[in-house]
Amino acid sequence: MEHAADTKAVWLDAGKIETLLAGTRTEDGPKVREILARARELKGLGLEDVAVLMNITSPDLVEELFHAARAVKEEIYGNRIVLFAPLYISNLCSNECLYCAFRRTNREVVRKALNADEIRQQTEIILSQGHKRVLMVAGEAYPGSGIDYVLDSIDAIYSANVNGSTIRRVNVNLAPLTVEDFRRLKEHHIGTFQLFQETYHRPTYAQVHLAGPKKDLDWRASSFDRAMLAGIDDVGMGLLYGLYDWRFETLALMSHIAHLEERFGVGCHTISVPRIEPAIGSDLASRPPHAVSDEDFLKLVAILRLAVPYTGIIMSTRESSAIRSRTLELGVSQISAGSRTNPGGYEAESRFEAAQFQLGDHRSLAEVIADLGEHGFIPSFCTGCYRLGRTGKDFMDLAKPGLIKAKCGPNALSTFEEYLLDYATPEAHEAGERAISAALDEMDERVRRTSEKLLAKVRDGRRDVYC
Ligand code: SAM
Ligand code: SF4
Repeated sequence: MEHAADTKAVWLDAGKIETLLAGTRTEDGPKVREILARARELKGLGLEDVAVLMNITSPDLVEELFHAARAVKEEIYGNRIVLFAPLYISNLCSNECLYCAFRRTNREVVRKALNADEIRQQTEIILSQGHKRVLMVAGEAYPGSGIDYVLDSIDAIYSANVNGSTIRRVNVNLAPLTVEDFRRLKEHHIGTFQLFQETYHRPTYAQVHLAGPKKDLDWRASSFDRAMLAGIDDVGMGLLYGLYDWRFETLALMSHIAHLEERFGVGCHTISVPRIEPAIGSDLASRPPHAVSDEDFLKLVAILRLAVPYTGIIMSTRESSAIRSRTLELGVSQISAGSRTNPGGYEAESRFEAAQFQLGDHRSLAEVIADLGEHGFIPSFCTGCYRLGRTGKDFMDLAKPGLIKAKCGPNALSTFEEYLLDYATPEAHEAGERAISAALDEMDERVRRTSEKLLAKVRDGRRDVYC
């Protein structure tokens, strides 16, 4: 018998959210400081705390908020940034999302669904840049045999091999599935199942989703319940900021996380924070009804960092490199690099009129890595947790007492060393080695020893070593 929550978002209580927002409208300095002090204990924040922090406007308090977020970021993630490449396999879609270039009736976009060979070729290009993690993305209309297309595409990505290098983790961003199809997806070894709710505000949701299965807000908002029932315990949430008031949306997102924690003992593994970008054939995307300013966007990232300290925050190439750099300090832990958002886009002469939205950051993976280094960050291609089955609650049980750091630090350095040895130019290699030495100096003795052992193996010619 199906649980009501498997098909309906019973936890989404707009009235409660509105009441919380109305009750916290004015900035309350002492309350803010009490919440920030509590947030530094790394135990996360409740809905009301988040509502209070979202109303900070005075520059002093904004600075205190950023300060707390930087401290939490540093404590949990150090200076590591995980890198991945999106791989768009198809832009066929049966929905009519007004903000997206892939929507069904948009004639300005060239339609393309890559076959397995093409997907393998695209993956080889991504691999030859040095990537190890892919986020596979598709519109909601699969050619031929439906979900089998998705499953075959995942297999095609994993089967690509360039001089012994393979993709080690395929995360997916796909439309909602049934429990049965989620089970099949799990059998194909996905990492995170990612799905963005776009907006939790029912009237707005109805206004921007005009046709197709995506019209059903509840079916979408209950996807993670079904994924978890199917045994997928790493789920990635997200919103499309700009459709409705970011404060309402963020509280709804927090309610969604609380629901999963209550029901399954684990919330989400990552949160993505896309803001609407211009998209071919979309008026709405050029003029988002509730555009989030850069100032509010930075606050939002900082608040999320404090509210769910162990949940990764993902920033895509939708944002400019300037905004990406600032959000990295405040809480972002994963970024995409060298991205293309059109199926087949990694080919040099690819067709950009097939792209989903405009990119804000056009730099290659090598350029992003150089920039990260200049800002004191260590790029990581680590997939260790997923490979060792440290997912869902197991991951959180290790993360919350602070034990995961002893794994992430060494794994970041060993995967970065692989990159330097196999893909970097001599100058980049030299700069990278300096960054690795500096990172080793910062580590405590035990973690440093683990890192040095892994580094020695990689320098000795071994690949894919992790702890
Ligand atoms: N079709 C599936 C779906 O909608 O869930 C998955 C793929 S869809 C291409 C991935 C995400 O792209 C959407 O969830 C949406 O948040 C985002 N997106 C769509 N249009 C966008 C735009 N104009 N700017 C930024 N992000 C956009
Ligand atoms: Fe299709 Fe997803 Fe774009 Fe909506 S957001 S039109 S479902 S690809």
